Amino acid sequence: MRIGHGYDTHRFVGGRPLVLGGVNVPHDKGLLAHSDGDVVIHALCDALLGAAALGDIGMHFPDSNKDFKNMDSRVLLRRVRSLLEQKSYTVVNADISIIAEEPEMAPHIVAMRDNLAADLSIAADAVNIKATTNEKMGSIGNREGIAVHAVALIG
Ligand code: MG
Repeated sequence: MRIGHGYDTHRFVGGRPLVLGGVNVPHDKGLLAHSDGDVVIHALCDALLGAAALGDIGMHFPDSNKDFKNMDSRVLLRRVRSLLEQKSYTVVNADISIIAEEPEMAPHIVAMRDNLAADLSIAADAVNIKATTNEKMGSIGNREGIAVHAVALIG
């Protein structure tokens, strides 16, 4: 068994859809990014890559590569799964914490979980997603963006 941790944060910006865990979450702002800005998937990818000692998402899918512009991050997650499979690792489980003041995440958690489990070819009950606010403290509390922590176990 090997464990990995991932962290990512993106800034809110107008004029973009908000995509979290592969779900289009209704909101008046999206997240600034080279890709679709799916901060949930980015943190999960980093946890998985970390567990396998395969570096990080920026190393495998650099911002400088035009191919990744506005890219669906679910494609990146499936590529990370392939990288793990090449090393004969399978994902045991993952646990994800979204930190955001807005929007409300609860209505979308199940859809996000089902997307991530499908992309990793694991059971839905091997993926947990939870959300909390930052109690109005600091940049996240000030509604400047969203942060996500993820941990993953592979074997
Ligand atoms: Mg990111």
